[in-house]
Amino acid sequence: MSVQVVSAAATAKVPEVELRDLSPSEAEPQLGLSSAAVGAMVPPAGGGDPEAPAPAPVAERPPAPGPGSGPTAALSPAAGKVPQASAMKRSDPHHQHQRHRDGGEALVSPDGTVTEAPRTVKKQIQFADQKQEFNKRPTKIGRRSLSRSISQSSTDSYSSAASYTDSSDDETSPRDKQQKNSKGSSDFCVKNIKQAEFGRREIEIAEQEMPALMALRKRAQGEKPLAGAKIVGCTHITAQTAVLMETLGALGAQCRWAACNIYSTLNEVAAALAESGFPVFAWKGESEDDFWWCIDRCVNVEGWQPNMILDDGGDLTHWIYKKYPNMFKKIKGIVEESVTGVHRLYQLSKAGKLCVPAMNVNDSVTKQKFDNLYCCRESILDGLKRTTDMMFGGKQVVVCGYGEVGKGCCAALKAMGSIVYVTEIDPICALQACMDGFRLVKLNEVIRQVDIVITCTGNKNVVTREHLDRMKNSCIVCNMGHSNTEIDVASLRTPELTWERVRSQVDHVIWPDGKRIVLLAEGRLLNLSCSTVPTFVLSITATTQALALIELYNAPEGRYKQDVYLLPKKMDEYVASLHLPTFDAHLTELTDEQAKYLGLNKNGPFKPNYYRY
Ligand code: NAD
Repeated sequence: MSVQVVSAAATAKVPEVELRDLSPSEAEPQLGLSSAAVGAMVPPAGGGDPEAPAPAPVAERPPAPGPGSGPTAALSPAAGKVPQASAMKRSDPHHQHQRHRDGGEALVSPDGTVTEAPRTVKKQIQFADQKQEFNKRPTKIGRRSLSRSISQSSTDSYSSAASYTDSSDDETSPRDKQQKNSKGSSDFCVKNIKQAEFGRREIEIAEQEMPALMALRKRAQGEKPLAGAKIVGCTHITAQTAVLMETLGALGAQCRWAACNIYSTLNEVAAALAESGFPVFAWKGESEDDFWWCIDRCVNVEGWQPNMILDDGGDLTHWIYKKYPNMFKKIKGIVEESVTGVHRLYQLSKAGKLCVPAMNVNDSVTKQKFDNLYCCRESILDGLKRTTDMMFGGKQVVVCGYGEVGKGCCAALKAMGSIVYVTEIDPICALQACMDGFRLVKLNEVIRQVDIVITCTGNKNVVTREHLDRMKNSCIVCNMGHSNTEIDVASLRTPELTWERVRSQVDHVIWPDGKRIVLLAEGRLLNLSCSTVPTFVLSITATTQALALIELYNAPEGRYKQDVYLLPKKMDEYVASLHLPTFDAHLTELTDEQAKYLGLNKNGPFKPNYYRY
């Protein structure tokens, strides 16, 4: 039985779902790849040789099962080896309890106004006027005044893996420069094309930690599942994105790319991509006007029209909707990574305005679990260390919130010998914290004694001015949640307190009696502001994006309707399996008898959709 998740209670705090059968046409659409291209990419169950021969071609795959034939039905091994796109649709996203670093929960009205959902701070973000004239370059004040016009993800400060080669004396806007790559092409706009060689080395380093994308390239040799695909992308432009783009290129796609964040572009990586022929329009420190100009340069091209969108934050999709709605006639699908962008898509869908199928990558298990838990487990220490050079052993730390992010932070700090306290509002997470060996406290009870306070709740005003007043001298305060309102930083901007910027992203806030607290990244996400994010985690997300693009691009007419689709568990399992060879991990294969006993197909999916991991 395939199931569709349908939201049951419009106002329920906790998402309630009802499961219903899907029609055969909705159920288990298959990944539309030819056999050797992707079928061969799927490691055999049992974690065997990644170079395994190609499974049966598409033609040999069984038809999509009808109702009642789902996980218990015996599919042919060939079918089992091919990931299938999801028939699971989330009809109303607002009942899903989900957050992501790229954006808080957001609602989009049909006119394009984005409002964060009630559980976080209420802030309205207006899109830039679609009639904006790009040749009217804003003044500095003008640029600032535009700063609320783009999505949160566009302005969140990203990784401090800043461009090493940024030259501050080069004030010329890339838009005013005439640059050509070594092949004579000028179809790009980056800070400095001469940084390409350095950027190439960064990309090569990232490739080492992105095994699944490299495997996709290798296994697709000779097959081009994205031949004819014209992908316009708007994501962070980092070495990891470059590996994704070059993989898409190797699979046959043409790509044009802009940045989804005005700060996050690694200039040398953008240069390397431009040098190898990718029309990239992005640089670190774009103005808001530059931001939209870059997006426009990606889509408004003579003789080239995109047929696929890869978006992170929804700005690109929005731009095309507003400026070039006719383009959607040729667009086969949208793949969206961020929670903000996904909410926008659901709103469009709800309003009947979504005119192409879209894939919600944000909610795939391999994204949420790995991004929130493992990414934070790895990067919390990095962020703290880079900013403060502190030692963790024996330090008293309070972590507010024991969700995925909090669990990751606590685990890392505990492993370093810190004494970790946890605060929680939810008895289930609270009990988990207790069972994991952490003391559950109220913040007030420990605030005077702790050395570090970390917020990971996605909530607001978790650390108030009163807490800040009571902290001991040199207490470090930082946030790992999405919103910079978890710590009431605004309350510290009062005349009696002195702020001293002691390092990049490190402020000392000094009380009249000389007590000082150490505030990191002004309360914004610590890891994204002050450290790098593990490439391996990004590899998992990038692989999911690549597979979603391949699936949507190759899906036969009618497989996907004008709606938002979740990736199927089977595709999640496939993404995970592509990463296992890195660890020389050996997966156990079900025997026929065991598969029958559990009612599973030997090749997965291995868990029901409601399984929590
Ligand atoms: P989650 O819902 O799993 O966990 C948040 C926890 O905080 C919940 O258990 C909730 O009960 C608890 N909480 C809420 N209000 C609280 C309060 N006042 N005091 C104590 N506990 C409270 O969410 P998550 O996946 O852990 O994400 C948490 C935040 O981190 C979100 O804002 C998310 O967007 C962000 N995030 C950050 C990164 C990163 O790289 N830094 C990565 C993913 C997500």
